Formats: sequence, structure tokens, C-alpha cells
Amino acid sequence: VIRCRAAVAWAPGKPLSVEEVEVAPPKAREVRVKIVATAICRTDDHLLQGYFPNVEFPVIPGHEGAGIVESTGEGVTSVKPGDKVIPLCLPQCGECFFCLNPDSNYCTKSHFYESQTLMPDKTSRFTCKGKQVHHFLWISTFAEYTVMPEYAVAKIDAAAPLDKVCLLGCGFPTGYGAAINTAKVKPGSTCAVFGLGGVGLSVVMGCKAAGASRIIAVDINKDKFAKAKELGATDCVNPKDFTKPIQEVLAEMTGCGVDYSFEAIGHKDTLIAALASCNISTGVCVMVGEVTSGTVIPFDPLLLLCGRTWRGTVVGGWKMRDSVPKLVSGYLEKKFNSDLLITHTLPIAEVNKGFELLRAGK
Ligand code: NAD
Ligand code: ZN
Repeated sequence: VIRCRAAVAWAPGKPLSVEEVEVAPPKAREVRVKIVATAICRTDDHLLQGYFPNVEFPVIPGHEGAGIVESTGEGVTSVKPGDKVIPLCLPQCGECFFCLNPDSNYCTKSHFYESQTLMPDKTSRFTCKGKQVHHFLWISTFAEYTVMPEYAVAKIDAAAPLDKVCLLGCGFPTGYGAAINTAKVKPGSTCAVFGLGGVGLSVVMGCKAAGASRIIAVDINKDKFAKAKELGATDCVNPKDFTKPIQEVLAEMTGCGVDYSFEAIGHKDTLIAALASCNISTGVCVMVGEVTSGTVIPFDPLLLLCGRTWRGTVVGGWKMRDSVPKLVSGYLEKKFNSDLLITHTLPIAEVNKGFELLRAGK
């Protein structure tokens, strides 16, 4: 058993509390990882607010981390102590119906199917003050040591800087993959990206890498525009500057609407606005943002009748165990610069300050 620090969420709506926790050794087919760095994603905030489905409190959040394997349970063959790894917020068991389908990145071991709040044997590896603490998405990266099933971790290049590549655990691949894998943005096309957080800015990078000629960045926080432009946005639009709906503004800017639109916020209103912003015939809208579980969205089916496509994406369509190591290699080869997404670096003791910065749009 290892004693270390972790940021524990005791109840929804409360700040995190940095506590000493006990982390049990990995059981068969499990891996214990020393987390070196973790990023914060809005999904962690959804969890803290109690908006995330299938989660029990107390829980250790975090799902965008990087670290080093500390020990492995019986039967683990793909990683060994000392290996650099990225824990996977979407597992790849390699055996289920979806893992066997090359066109899918879904896995029936994911939280959409079954809760990942306990290890597959339905027990937790964390305790704090004598109480069982739950895992988040199996990987709980807000702990200095964490345990996960082998199929929820990927070995990466030993040269990777862990404080930088932790972003490749969720935010960057989600946005970048939404553009290149899910939408399959074509060269010369026009794109609109709603929401310029870590995910939306990564969509901008993906659209640019795919050769889009016009990338319209949409956010109500104009402080996000400088970074969006640096990453490839050609136009920046603040819906607050207009009285008419943003989809009408985009239609006027582009003639008939954009070829591809992306919603990277997670609100029902912006989801419909993004859908209506892509053109009525060949337009593709990708839902990236996560709307509160249980939300129902009324929409006019005529939006889809003429051929417009509405799609979702989970972590940008990547089969994570296969793709994360390749993304890390791409990072090391400077094919993209995800470092530009890093705004602040804080010690774990200041994890709540990280969330304050996120909520303040900084
Ligand atoms: P973030 O909070 O950093 O960014 C959201 C941005 O949206 C902010 O810049 C904010 O100013 C902007 N915004 C808010 N309301 C707006 C409005 N009405 N119009 C225009 N802009 C508005 O969040 P993030 O970490 O980038 O995550 C974005 C979303 O993606 C979240 O919902 C998150 O849960 C989701 N997500 C989904 C996946 C997936 O696999 N599909 C993975 C990771 C994150
Ligand atoms: Zn995430």
C-alpha cells in the first residue's frame, strides 16, 4: 500500500480537498502508476458539480494525466515498472464488438456502458480516513498514485515530457480528432468552432491541419480570440456582439453556412446553433461538448431532412490504446504544438485554484 496525496471530491458542489490517501497494490491485469502531471478538463468540473452520470462520491477526479508505471499486477504484459504511460479515459479492451470494428473507437468497458467508479472486480483501490474512495473513469489522475486496468493505459515514448503530453490524454485528441477523424474536414473547406477552451482550440488546430481555408472561432469570451488566431482561426465572432442568432451571422459570413461546425461547449442552445450553422445539404455538425446527463433537446427535424449530418465524438474518434502513443510520437516530431494550450502550471495543493481559473475563462 502506498500513502500519497490526492484531491478528493467528498460531495457534489464542494471544492476538492487534498488528502493523504492509501493506494492498494494493483490486482491481476491492473497497473499502478505514479502520476507526474495532470491537466484539468471541463469534464472534471461537470463531475465536481454532480452532472456526470454513474459516479459515486467520494471520488478522486482527473482523467488527463501522464506518469510512470510503479508496479503491475499478475498477467500484465504490455507495460512494466519504469515505463512512461498515459492513462486512458476511454479504454480499449481489444475484445469487444466495437474494439474489433476498425471504424469505431468505442469500447464496452467504457463508462457509457458500465460505471467505472470501481475497478472491474467492483472494489476500489483507494481509501481515505478509513473510507472507500471511488475511481473516476478508472484512472483518477488527481492522485499521486493511481491504479487502472491494463487496457486503460498506453505506453508512450520514453523521451516524452510528461508535464506536456498529459494533454494528450483527453483535451487535445478530443478536439483535434473531432476535426480530422469524426468530421474528416476537407482541404479548402470552411469550419466554425463554438467554444474556445482546451477542446475547442484543439478543434481549431485539427481544422487547420486538415487544410481548412476558413476557420471561424465563436466564443462569448473575447479573451480567447488571440490564442484562437495563433492556432489557425481566420475569423473570431462573439455572439454577444449581435442581436440576431449566431447561425444567421455565420450564414451571412459564408453564403450558405459552413461545411463543418463543432460544438465544444456543452449547452443545448449552442448545440442547436452549431447544427443550424453548417449548410443544409452537405454540412456536418460534430457534438463535442458534453451536455448535462439527462438533458432533452427539442429540435426541428427539417434541419436534417436535406442531408445535413449531426454526429457526436468521444475523445475525437481515436482508438486510444493504439493512437495515444502515435500522438505522442507526433508531438515529439513537432507535427502539432499542444504546449500552446497550457496557460498555468500549479502544484496539486492548488488544484482548486486551477478550477477557479477554468471557471473564470482563464
Ligand atoms: P472550457 O470550459 O475550457 O471551454 C468552453 C468554452 O466555451 C469557453 O471558452 C467559454 O467561454 C465558451 N462558451 C461558454 N458558453 C458559450 C456560448 N453560449 N457561446 C459561445 N461560447 C461559449 O471547456 P473544455 O475543457 O474545452 O471542454 C469543452 C466541452 O467538451 C465540455 O463540455 C467537456 O465536458 C467536453 N468534452 C468532451 C469530450 C468528448 O469526448 N466528447 C472530451 C473532453 C471534453
Ligand atoms: Zn476530458
